Amino acid sequence: MLRSRRIFVALIILVMVWAIRPVDSAAFEELDALFLLSGGGYADTLRAEEAIEAAGGRVELIFPNRVIVGRIDRVAAASLRGRAAIEAVEFGMVATAAGLNRPNLEERTAIEFWNDLVQNPTPEERSHLDHELMGSDALPAPPIHPALQNRRRPTQVLTPVMGGKIVQTVFFVESDGKIDKQTENWGKDWKLIKRQIVKGLRYWTRIAPKKMKLRFVIKFNKPNKSKTGYEPINRPSTDEGLWVSELMKKKGFPASRVGAAASYFDQVFAFNAKQAKKFKATGGAVSEFVVASKKDADGKFTNGAFGYAYLGGWFTVMTYDNNGWGPARFNQVQSHENGHLTGRALDEYASSGCSCKDKSANGTKNGSCAACSDTVCVMKNNTTPICRFTKKQIGW
Ligand SMILES: [Zn+2]
Repeated sequence: MLRSRRIFVALIILVMVWAIRPVDSAAFEELDALFLLSGGGYADTLRAEEAIEAAGGRVELIFPNRVIVGRIDRVAAASLRGRAAIEAVEFGMVATAAGLNRPNLEERTAIEFWNDLVQNPTPEERSHLDHELMGSDALPAPPIHPALQNRRRPTQVLTPVMGGKIVQTVFFVESDGKIDKQTENWGKDWKLIKRQIVKGLRYWTRIAPKKMKLRFVIKFNKPNKSKTGYEPINRPSTDEGLWVSELMKKKGFPASRVGAAASYFDQVFAFNAKQAKKFKATGGAVSEFVVASKKDADGKFTNGAFGYAYLGGWFTVMTYDNNGWGPARFNQVQSHENGHLTGRALDEYASSGCSCKDKSANGTKNGSCAACSDTVCVMKNNTTPICRFTKKQIGW
């Protein structure tokens, strides 16, 4: 009679599971939402963020000053409309300007991204290529200049965990032919890449535990605001200091302003700190330099590098087509580089030379490294899943 006893026990368990099921869970369904704000100051954005969270929603992406992408349920959304500078909460397609008076670059990008998302909620993931880098694309960040160490709160620019509000400022680097012969031009191609960047960042906000309060403030510098005399793609990536320093100088951060013998890392650090302060970051600020490379035969720098990032700050560099990844998969490379940059996650692919004994900055071992694990994940194949060791490395 052992069998009938088993059936009885199974029935009891079923009844218990039914009894403790969440009641009326559909009423609290979190949906992707586009929040459109009135007003125009960043103070309004902050008010809206607070209200969204107080209503049980999530803030994921902030496009200063009038657009937020996040999640909320319909009932809570209804209670927010017309409050705390929130003009509208949309769950479906919106018109080109979404009712905003003269939307700026960030706001327009948000609306385009949103309409892409609504039409394509789970974009098909394309198969991956190997990174084919010389070793790892995660580089150690140099120590901070003593002058900066004393003047700034390091929490403004460094992100020991991937959480809080992180400002990511993007430069679409454009040569002007003044020093190197000009071979690349962005033309309109950067417009696709800006949406891909947003998609790549949303990968992280979408999977972040709610308690991490992870959100990105996204700022763009279009090609004509990111001009350099060099043609970066025709040089080794190790020449990055030439054009990064030049761009930072144009942004008001010449090396001389930072301190004696300041490097281009220090210049970027100081610039990031300014962005962190301006947007009241709680998780740090980073920069991103995207290099035009459409004409280039392989989309790689002359030393073979293409997408790389400094672990835990201060910037990442990517090319338009990132070796064979191409613009259509830019988002996947973006997600991977942000793992290094804003989370200090380690590489897991075989050619990075990773070892399962390696430890991340917070002492987590690299247990998903290809040497001891064949799981597919973001720091190995740039694909969607995140491995459990990566979660620990980024402090989740
Ligand atoms: Zn990597």
